[in-house]
Amino acid sequence: VNGADVVVVGGGAAGILAAWRAAVLGARVHLLEKTNRLGTKILISGGGKCNITHDGPIEEVLSAFRANEARFIRPSCYRFTNQDILDLLSERGLRVMTREDGRVFPVDQTAKDVVRILGETLRDAGVTVSYETAVRRVIVKDEEIVGVQTKAGEIACSHLVVAVGGSSYPNSGASGDGYHWMREIGHTVLPIRPALAPMELEKPLAEMSGVALRDCTLLGRGQGKKVAEWRGDLLLTHRGVSGPNALGISREVAEAMERGPATLEVDLAPGDDFSHVDGAIQSAAKDHPRRRVSQAVQHWMPESLVGTFMALHETDPECIGANLDRNARRRLTGGIKGWNLGPVSHIPLEKGEVVAGGVELSEVEPNSMRSKRIRGLYLCGEILDVAGPVGGYNLQAAWATGYVAGETAAMDALER
Ligand SMILES: Cc1cc2nc3c(=O)[nH]c(=O)nc-3n(C[C@H](O)[C@H](O)[C@H](O)COP(=O)(O)OP(=O)(O)OC[C@H]3O[C@@H](n4cnc5c(N)ncnc54)[C@H](O)[C@@H]3O)c2cc1C
Repeated sequence: VNGADVVVVGGGAAGILAAWRAAVLGARVHLLEKTNRLGTKILISGGGKCNITHDGPIEEVLSAFRANEARFIRPSCYRFTNQDILDLLSERGLRVMTREDGRVFPVDQTAKDVVRILGETLRDAGVTVSYETAVRRVIVKDEEIVGVQTKAGEIACSHLVVAVGGSSYPNSGASGDGYHWMREIGHTVLPIRPALAPMELEKPLAEMSGVALRDCTLLGRGQGKKVAEWRGDLLLTHRGVSGPNALGISREVAEAMERGPATLEVDLAPGDDFSHVDGAIQSAAKDHPRRRVSQAVQHWMPESLVGTFMALHETDPECIGANLDRNARRRLTGGIKGWNLGPVSHIPLEKGEVVAGGVELSEVEPNSMRSKRIRGLYLCGEILDVAGPVGGYNLQAAWATGYVAGETAAMDALER
């Protein structure tokens, strides 16, 4: 389509909202998507269920982000709130529910329904979508957008929304293309780091892969100093750890690893102090001298892990209460309250849910998503240096910044 008022690159959460909003305001919109479908990352989000957003007052949602990132997305999150995205989807038949922890999901539908509905909103708003149309380059003349380069040739445009995402899960289509173009046209792109990613250990417990530790605290240390902790569930994997706790501290651990070695530690009894755990093991050993100590230790971990855990803490897994000496008991208690998993060897960026880093926020106008460097350019979604925690925060940031980018692009284009 030549002659669109607004061209949007990237059909993910941010690009879809941008294209839809611009079209609703009356702009002729052309959305260019590299893959053969919309919203691949939405489809895999929340384990295929799609954690659409996070419930609660906007200030509370914002407080989950780092302060500078919250400041940047604040105007757009007020302009297009967590309730607004739910209304948009609910009006077209999505039934949603809020979990106790504030995460919002479809009730009896899935991420597929979210993407189907978003596709319908684009169709009804009259957005033209070109699939398998990867943009290769953004064309700028005299610090003003003049078009984009695709395999099939140049597409002229004066108002361009770039919503190509980050570079985790490259199979989803988001493979970091945009960073390159943004640098080329004069934007600063901050180094890309893993943010919500699993972590690999120097000595993984590969034989325990698949074991889930419920309600524990994972603590990350950089050169011995605590850098972050997260309470929830932890999954042991073939190469290290995954699950909410691992994802929750991976950004801070990745940052710490740039300064030196980082290690992980698990508190398996976050609600009990050392003396309580120690006393409980001592009483169990005293009250049941013929019983295996492992039965008491099992209180704090899955049965399948106890043997390995005791062996790692230099205690015979067959040891009975009568034979448990003070040192062994202290080792077990120490392990339950602070199990040292050892050094982190690698945090695979591509396996993360989002990446940190991206286009420097001070170069984008937070009220409008206009680039401060290039006229006619609007940026939104994960290409920006914003990364929230797990819980629907990242999609909320993408919906909101996308909405505002599309709105401003349309208004600027129609004003001309
Ligand atoms: C496994 C997983 C689970 C997740 N779960 C959740 C969750 O439950 N809740 C939550 O809030 N967040 C979740 N996230 C994060 C969330 O999906 C992202 O933050 C969000 O999708 C970012 O939106 P975006 O539109 O900026 O980028 P993307 O969704 O990545 O979209 C970018 C789009 O641009 C296209 N594109 C890329 N390059 C080009 C090009 N050169 N030309 C044309 N098109 C191009 C891509 O194909 C893609 O369609 C999850 C992420 C992953 C990977």
